[in-house]
Amino acid sequence: MTDTPTQLFIGGAWLDAADGATMPVDDPATGEILCHIADAGPKDARLAEEAAVQAQEEWARTAPRARSEILRRAYEIILDRTDELAHLMTAEMGKPLAEARGEVAYAAEFFRWFSEEAVRIDGGAGVLPDGRNRMLLSRRPVGPCLLITPWNFPLAMGTRKIGPAIAAGCTMVLKPAPQTPLSSLALAAILQEAGLPDGVLNVVTTSRAGEICEPLLRGGRIRKLSFTGSTAVGQLLLAQSAQAVVRTSMELGGNAPFIVFEDADLDKAVDGAMVAKMRNMGEACTAANRFFVHHSVAEEFGRRLAERMGVLVVGPGTRDGVDVGPLIDRTGRGKVEALVADAVERGARVLVGGRTPEGPGCFYPPTVLTDVSPESRLMDTEIFGPVAAILTFDDEDEVIRRANDTPWGLVGYVFTEGLDRALRVSERLEVGMVGLNTGLVSNPAAPFGGVKQSGLGREGGRVGIDEFLEYQYLAMPVR
Ligand code: NAP
Repeated sequence: MTDTPTQLFIGGAWLDAADGATMPVDDPATGEILCHIADAGPKDARLAEEAAVQAQEEWARTAPRARSEILRRAYEIILDRTDELAHLMTAEMGKPLAEARGEVAYAAEFFRWFSEEAVRIDGGAGVLPDGRNRMLLSRRPVGPCLLITPWNFPLAMGTRKIGPAIAAGCTMVLKPAPQTPLSSLALAAILQEAGLPDGVLNVVTTSRAGEICEPLLRGGRIRKLSFTGSTAVGQLLLAQSAQAVVRTSMELGGNAPFIVFEDADLDKAVDGAMVAKMRNMGEACTAANRFFVHHSVAEEFGRRLAERMGVLVVGPGTRDGVDVGPLIDRTGRGKVEALVADAVERGARVLVGGRTPEGPGCFYPPTVLTDVSPESRLMDTEIFGPVAAILTFDDEDEVIRRANDTPWGLVGYVFTEGLDRALRVSERLEVGMVGLNTGLVSNPAAPFGGVKQSGLGREGGRVGIDEFLEYQYLAMPVR
């Protein structure tokens, strides 16, 4: 912790907030303050914007190979410092160290992937249908970007945006979540070390997100917003982006269905459920939120899932052998408690967990609820905690209708051994991603994103860089 930057990163310099304001960063495992960091206000945000705007033209002209090599060096530095970064992430966010190490590798991979994409930005040329006009198509960076990230994957949500922005030749202002700013500041230091020119990345940590972001979005100099967070905040930012017609990418909330058919391999289904539910303590947009299990296998599935959930060790993420760390804060835990209480009031049975432990920290036990009423609030609310809610169904049409009966459409999980059914159901689910007999879909080489109110655009994969590029078409008549 001693070497971790705690100031704003603007124009390549580490600065205090102009008004000297600071804010605390808490350890969710103890409730204690880890450190204080700079708390940016509107003046600092304007300075960061100015640095990004000033750096844009020269950065856009940088050779793609040079941008690629900066990302590649940063990828290697991140991997070299896996342990240090994992400890930092666990301290500010709570996830167990093993998961934090996994996130460091996942985060680094976005830099490796986009270091390879930076040198593959293509254009085009052609003869137009009239046979006389020629067309030259080139691609250019969209311009200075505002990147806003959530707290649940503090490093990976940053690299998933910064990687393609650097590859495309965009400059940026990053505003990380106030609960987990340290990972982003550490990342900025690594990119500086890897040779990123001053002003290309600027990081403003703040407790006044609305106050500092709205003027940037309305001001017209920021040309792109890439946001990951809740649907409610995404909707607000889309409205703010409309005025200056800012291009937007939105990675928003989910309400993932996890469907277990009667012909599923239950070993695979329970393994998949453990990942889809318990990765990141359930604090993931991809977390399975509604388990629909065919009535003929529901009892066995519930019993086996409860057995697996019941032996997980809950405790501070730094402690050896811990599987489940604390939730992010008391507000997050309070929401989980209220959703479970509501489900139980409406008739759900608690197979395991369901009781908040005494003592400090924001812990909540792995919980399995069965006989959940479709009227329960957790059916249309992201639980964002280690709670599996099981409902039963009778046939395929019914479960597809119920799975799609939500405004969200990020991911769905399907467990069946029948190939026809697997394809039929996957095609009918209104989601951007499907996990077929697996509980994990995230991969830097795949396009991540949702439909409906889960978002706009994709991150990662071959298309991830497109979000940061514009086309320019040059018309040339040949006489
Ligand atoms: P959140 O409350 O929407 O916050 C996300 C980010 O937006 C934070 O940095 C937050 O800062 C900022 N923010 C909030 N209000 C803002 C405003 N008016 N102007 C500018 N920035 C503002 O979400 P969260 O609780 O951090 O994260 C959990 C949500 O993220 C869940 O819904 C989850 O599904 C979603 N998520 C989606 C994906 C995906 O790829 N689809 C990935 C991860 C998470 P402040 O906290 O300071 O307001």
